[in-house]
Amino acid sequence: MPDSTKLFQAYNIDSFRQQGHRLIDQLADYLESTIESPDAQKVLDWIDPDDQVAWWEKALVEGRTDIDAFFAELLQRSIHVHHPKYMGHQISPTLPIAALAGMVGDLLNNGMGIYEMGSASTAVERVVVQTVCQAIGYDEQAGGVMTSGGSLANLTALLAARSLKASSDVWSEGSHKQLALMVSDEAHYCVERAVRIMGWGATGIIKIPTDDQYRMKTHLLEKYYLKAQEEGVEVIAVVGSACTTSTGSFDDLVAIADFCERHNIWMHVDGAHGGATVFSQKYKPLVKGIERADSVVMDFHKTLMTPSITTALLYKNEQASYSTFATKAQYLWQDAVEPEWYNLAKRTFECTKLMIGVKAYSIIRTHGVSLFDDYVSTCYDLGKTFAQAIEMDASFELATSPECNIVCFRLFDEGLEEEALNDLNRQVRQAILEEGNFYIVQTVVRNKLFLRVTLTNPFTTEKEIKDLLSRLKFHAKCLTNPLTANQS
Ligand SMILES: *Cc1c(COP(=O)(O)O)cnc(C)c1O
Repeated sequence: MPDSTKLFQAYNIDSFRQQGHRLIDQLADYLESTIESPDAQKVLDWIDPDDQVAWWEKALVEGRTDIDAFFAELLQRSIHVHHPKYMGHQISPTLPIAALAGMVGDLLNNGMGIYEMGSASTAVERVVVQTVCQAIGYDEQAGGVMTSGGSLANLTALLAARSLKASSDVWSEGSHKQLALMVSDEAHYCVERAVRIMGWGATGIIKIPTDDQYRMKTHLLEKYYLKAQEEGVEVIAVVGSACTTSTGSFDDLVAIADFCERHNIWMHVDGAHGGATVFSQKYKPLVKGIERADSVVMDFHKTLMTPSITTALLYKNEQASYSTFATKAQYLWQDAVEPEWYNLAKRTFECTKLMIGVKAYSIIRTHGVSLFDDYVSTCYDLGKTFAQAIEMDASFELATSPECNIVCFRLFDEGLEEEALNDLNRQVRQAILEEGNFYIVQTVVRNKLFLRVTLTNPFTTEKEIKDLLSRLKFHAKCLTNPLTANQS
């Protein structure tokens, strides 16, 4: 027999009210201690994955139902992205207002697929999308959708590209011809995944080599394009990286736009990380030409202080978005009638979708779009500050001069072979991870292992940067010469 009394009790409104008030206090205390006393606590408390599972299982077995304790444990056992010594993967410290908006969305649980199931949030999403289109520099024909992450958004955009640019109707008839796209060899792995998901195989991704700053050598596009044509491969798109994930390098979007226009192929910009640069008056020149792209992807959770997952997928011509999951004939038919912008599932992978737009909208509504400029410009400036600290210290070298808030660097010692340098940097990064006072990541570029930071927290200062560098040197010293380190 189901216990309905227990079920109704679980929805108890008084409990919710009280728990909610306590939770907000708990979260505010957490933010206060994390941001204001970064030296007093760790960025992450490194725990072996299996031990972590065992701990959470034990709490269930012991029947610990105290919800305040649960939230406290969750806070304690998670990585703290608001911590000024968090400099790892590309994720924004969320703005509190956006987290509150997210909570409202979670409670309302509107499904979003069709207008009735999310009328306010559908409209809010449209306003956010239009705000982004304007910042990109698109005209009034532009539009788009919000979706669950840059990876999915890239695949969605490429499906629209295939529908509109391929010479055959792949959606209805399957593949007859070998299709392909061109992208830099430093692009995010999700572009290659999208190609393989679409069934184009390894031949479907043509990787253009990059220069010494890891940007696509756009002068090679023509050569690779002609070679593909000779081999019977139909190139339908070029994907520009703005920027690359590893080194934060921005492809020359103007050159890519010129090329795509010349050959009537689709230009897509993977701006998952750096698309938000359009909001920065100071750094906008990095994405010059983005307004000529047929489609652009932008992750708000990486560079616009919004909770995960918040991604905008913008099209220069919104009509294109209706062809993503449709045959050519349907597209024409849809063209003849008013496209239903408000039934979002027509254009997204999601049927049920989180109320994504409300989180971004809450920021724009309370602080204005200019806050995005303040955030992006501040973080990119921090990238420069970090690079200057590296350049002044002979123990380190940069992979390349940073263009944004991603900086790749490594401990360097002339006396060590490449293999030994890789080992050293790998071990130092592991030591930092297990110590938990800082969080940074690593990446391999052209067989060299680099340490990598994303300056994503506006509360990070030169002090935290200098402290990090000293700590890295300390660990390097321990590893190369354990005795001296112990004595010091
Ligand atoms: C992070 C990233 C992605 C993937 O985006 P998700 O939101 O993590 O799915 C794609 N491209 C680039 C350039 C990225 O930096």
